[in-house]
Amino acid sequence: MAIDATRPYDDQNIFAKILRGEIPSTRIYEDEWAYAFPDINPQAPLHILVIPKGAYVSWDDFSAAAPAEEIAGFIRAVGHVAREHGLVEPGYRLLANIGGHGGQEVPHLHVHLFGGQLLGPMIV
Ligand code: 5GP
Repeated sequence: MAIDATRPYDDQNIFAKILRGEIPSTRIYEDEWAYAFPDINPQAPLHILVIPKGAYVSWDDFSAAAPAEEIAGFIRAVGHVAREHGLVEPGYRLLANIGGHGGQEVPHLHVHLFGGQLLGPMIV
């Protein structure tokens, strides 16, 4: 069920557990600010989730409250993952679901990175 993005951060969410190593994931990339791993239910040949290491529910609290250095570090990490996978040409898609209408299921900010094929006009 989609979450309410205004809820307080819950450190028992599944991505918090992945960050702490309590739930296994395959590390694609990691630095001071971000962690990237494959989506368990891929919607494209390449479907990577990139999450900040900080405790943010969604793009909303992240963009409002995160220190500028943390925002820059996270955005740079997303771009780095795309470049490392050779996606800049032919191209790729980034998506962040936010709250109920956005269809966000996991209450830890994550950016979906889709690539590896010509993507349709929209992935929902
Ligand atoms: P959302 O709808 O919140 O934007 O997307 C959550 C994503 O997390 C979904 O695409 C779902 O497949 C993925 N996901 C949920 N649980 C796990 C998990 O335990 N491991 C991994 N790797 N991905 C997960």
